[in-house]
Amino acid sequence: MRSAAAPINHSMTDGFGRRIEYLRISVTDRCDLRCRYCMAEKMTFLPRNEVLSLEEIAIIADRFIARGVRKIRLSGGEPLVRRDFMELARRIGRHLDGGGLDELTLTTNGTHLAEHAEALFDAGMRRINVSLDSLDPERFAFITRGGDLDKVLGGIAAAKAAGLRVKINMVALKGFNDDAFLPMLRWCANHGHDLTLIETMPLGDTGEDRTDRYLPLGEAVTQIEASHPLSPLTYRSGGPARYFSAQGMEHIRLGLITPLSNNFCAGCNRMRLTCEGKIFMCLGHEDHVDLKTAYRTGGGEAVDDALDRALIAKPLAHGFAIGPDGTYGQTRRHMNVTGG
Ligand code: SAM
Ligand code: SF4
Repeated sequence: MRSAAAPINHSMTDGFGRRIEYLRISVTDRCDLRCRYCMAEKMTFLPRNEVLSLEEIAIIADRFIARGVRKIRLSGGEPLVRRDFMELARRIGRHLDGGGLDELTLTTNGTHLAEHAEALFDAGMRRINVSLDSLDPERFAFITRGGDLDKVLGGIAAAKAAGLRVKINMVALKGFNDDAFLPMLRWCANHGHDLTLIETMPLGDTGEDRTDRYLPLGEAVTQIEASHPLSPLTYRSGGPARYFSAQGMEHIRLGLITPLSNNFCAGCNRMRLTCEGKIFMCLGHEDHVDLKTAYRTGGGEAVDDALDRALIAKPLAHGFAIGPDGTYGQTRRHMNVTGG
């Protein structure tokens, strides 16, 4: 952390001059799946009183929006397993009408998407991300430790029918889905979905060594380019993905997120609010500021002061690396607490 004498800043610009316009909120650490790269089989979840209430999340989101955040993504854990989720989405979604927010989006595993797709559209969402690492039912059940692929495919179809643009997130895993990038891209092209491939990151102890599963995305690109040469696009979604157009599939975008093989921190414009109210300035650092305690002891003003501290403390870059001797910079937090 820098010294307390650093200038107080009520905008959303960090100590390196980066404007923070994007907030990801993990609304719950709970989930109905147990993806092997994300969670351990037996997880201990947070007691309910340690998780921010709907009211607290909405008020903290209001503070961020008032200071200049333009885009909010709701994530988890699995956001759609939180009972009051739709009420929260509607509440934050009202800022879209008022012009305070440009975009409200969601990252979901899709298991409960069919029930909620229309309500998500009505809350103002237009684009969502759905995680899907395999189109093979058995592989899908393996990687999620018991997930039902049909339910997720049904959810994706319902989202499309409701008018939501769906982007598929696929984590690249050596020896698991490294033969399936092209089939997934073709499936996405047939259904009109964008696809983003993600390198696995060392977050939290999952009981499995992700070094063995780590696959640099350069290998996926080589596979795809053998039949569909890629051209870089200037499009940016506000996140860390770089986008490409695949020959013959120009109606969709292929995104690559390469935290390990190609560090993307210089343009980072985001912060993460965990479900227990901590602001993590970087996915790869343990440094955080506790907004829940600030709010519960000092109300909205204390949240603003805590946010000033968070902005000043945002580091320049994450600390992950994967080398011949394993992964470095592993964080103790699981992705479900921080929000992917
Ligand atoms: N449950 C929702 C889902 O799966 O989409 C939202 C939360 S999940 C933590 C968000 C994203 O993080 C998912 O796309 C998931 O694949 C990704 N993710 C989880 N653990 C990861 C890891 N260790 N490395 C890379 N991506 C990870
Ligand atoms: Fe749950 Fe998403 Fe983590 Fe899978 S990646 S265990 S669906 S939170």
